[in-house]
Amino acid sequence: MLKEASFWKKEDKKVRCLLCPHECLIPEGGRGRCRVRENRGGKLYTLIYGSVSSVAIDPIEKKPLYHFYPGSYALSFGTAGCNLSCKHCQNYSISMARPEDIYLKEFDADEPATLAKRHGCKSISWTYNEPTIWHEYTVDASRIAKKEGICITYVSNGYINEDPFREIGRYLDGINIDVKSFSEDFYREISGGHLEPVLNTCRVAKEMGIHLEITYLVIPTKNDSMEEIRKFCRWVVDELSEDIPIHFTRFFPHYRMTNLPPTPFDTLVRAFNVAKESGLKYVYLGNVPHGDYENTYCPKCGNLLIERHGFSSVIKGLKGKNCSRCGEEINIVVD
Ligand code: SF4
Repeated sequence: MLKEASFWKKEDKKVRCLLCPHECLIPEGGRGRCRVRENRGGKLYTLIYGSVSSVAIDPIEKKPLYHFYPGSYALSFGTAGCNLSCKHCQNYSISMARPEDIYLKEFDADEPATLAKRHGCKSISWTYNEPTIWHEYTVDASRIAKKEGICITYVSNGYINEDPFREIGRYLDGINIDVKSFSEDFYREISGGHLEPVLNTCRVAKEMGIHLEITYLVIPTKNDSMEEIRKFCRWVVDELSEDIPIHFTRFFPHYRMTNLPPTPFDTLVRAFNVAKESGLKYVYLGNVPHGDYENTYCPKCGNLLIERHGFSSVIKGLKGKNCSRCGEEINIVVD
């Protein structure tokens, strides 16, 4: 659906989009790198206001958000396009598509809230492809849903300018940000972006009091050196908090990165150990066989707090936000 965009300015006959750090300068009739924002007659329009490519009820664990209402369901929405161009994208059929390339169903701004209530979902999640690029719709729909008492979560690459992030951030209860690597070279060569804006979004999310978890997809030879992972972990501890849940997930060959093998389990375990040595309290491995690496343990006494199996979770050792054995306060959002 066509709607005038927010966050842009005119530069002669061109328009500059200010939504994400690319700040595309778009000539008349042209589109930004995300393929969903277009200059028409000297104004910037979003082509995807309320245009939904995918909708599903997901366990919140699938985002992954392990410390945010565990066991609850998130009504999840995606659209078309993305502002990065990761060679290993797992959702490239929608993220690399133009709106005219795929089937999109039009939703009014109040429909996500209505559907979430009807299906007993605790939250709405903007996910599947990068939510930044349908900013106008996610802001409007989130505002309505919040009034209905529904939580809002965002699964994002973090590649968004600070002003728009602060606008959507007012409605966000939880966010999972992909830090794809801790190297500028990786971002430039593999993802078509830059690292620092992503780190800044993590900082702002923390400062705004949004529940934050971070995912780091470990790719053989690209971002799997323990030196790089240690730097990333130290940064989280020093600039965010040792309480931030970290998800190291396993890479599988995909899209334009089929020449690499899946991440060896042993590499993920080493990343887990580096994170724990760095002082991070809640570290998880994703896309691996069931085991201890998906459970939550009390960082003080080792009590099993939440047992997970795939996307299901059972609270075992929590009393409210505290460990039921030693009383340690846990960074977790629960009823
Ligand atoms: S949101 Fe799209 S059009 Fe705007 S700056 Fe980013 S890539 Fe360019």
